[in-house]
Amino acid sequence: MPTGMKKQALFGTSEHLWIRRSETKGGVPVENSKINKNRLANFYLELLELEDKVSSVGWKEIVTGKIKENWLLGVPVLSQLQPEIDVKLFSDVFMGVVRACLKWQPGPQPLSEEVISRINGLSKGDVSNLIGVIIKDVEGEKLKWVEKLNISRDMMDFLADNTARILLSGFAACIMPQLDIERWDKGYCPVCGDSPVMAKLTGDAGIRKLYCGRCESEWRFNRLGCPFCGSKDSSQISFIMPEDKKQYRLYLCDQCKSYIKTVDERQCGEVDLFCEDLATADFDRLANSEGYRCGNKRYRA
Ligand SMILES: [Zn+2]
Ligand SMILES: [Zn+2]
Repeated sequence: MPTGMKKQALFGTSEHLWIRRSETKGGVPVENSKINKNRLANFYLELLELEDKVSSVGWKEIVTGKIKENWLLGVPVLSQLQPEIDVKLFSDVFMGVVRACLKWQPGPQPLSEEVISRINGLSKGDVSNLIGVIIKDVEGEKLKWVEKLNISRDMMDFLADNTARILLSGFAACIMPQLDIERWDKGYCPVCGDSPVMAKLTGDAGIRKLYCGRCESEWRFNRLGCPFCGSKDSSQISFIMPEDKKQYRLYLCDQCKSYIKTVDERQCGEVDLFCEDLATADFDRLANSEGYRCGNKRYRA
């Protein structure tokens, strides 16, 4: 989707632009409050500009025959191929995210200038380690960085997720055309292995595509059935549709108690799921309050 449309969507649609991640991924709600919509939109706008700059960096990763073979068996590309990320490029993106956080304060905790000095003081070796931790999302290592940067775990996740998305969306754009994507039928991302954060129903037939919030890949998935536990039992799977926003559906699975927010493009035209995810935080709250969690079907090697 062109950046212009993305920008419009960021400022446009919803009265309910909340920070979502601490509710859905971290387990315990850290901050639930509605925050200034414009501040958050401005933060993501700044990140979009950063993403535009980075997307012009030529990714040259080649998906070899061996990688494709394993991929067909369900092993995502990122588990097999370490992307070449230049230390300088990474530092620019990470620092760009940190500075945008400092300016707009959209994160789960206020960020201070001291964090910038701590980052500036990192050695090249430290930065290389941080690249691996953020791109591969290494759990134990992340905790070391929480201490090193002296920030909360939620803040570390917030910085890491935003940095990873900017970098990995470029990587995914290079990888996807090399894959026979119609052959991927898993409930996790073919490129990075993460769980989908959203889905859309698209085309005249309303085929379902899942969307990865980590690298922004989209892939086709069965219209029926839960992407997380695989259940196809129609007595376990249901969806609710808000009266006033007919393009949205919240799919609920009682087998694994997970949910997935879905946009029906036949009702509203083409959407950008990154923006939709941000704009539909009220559905996350609704699902959470009913005892459903963001589905977890992440690929683990
Ligand atoms: Zn992904
Ligand atoms: Zn399920």
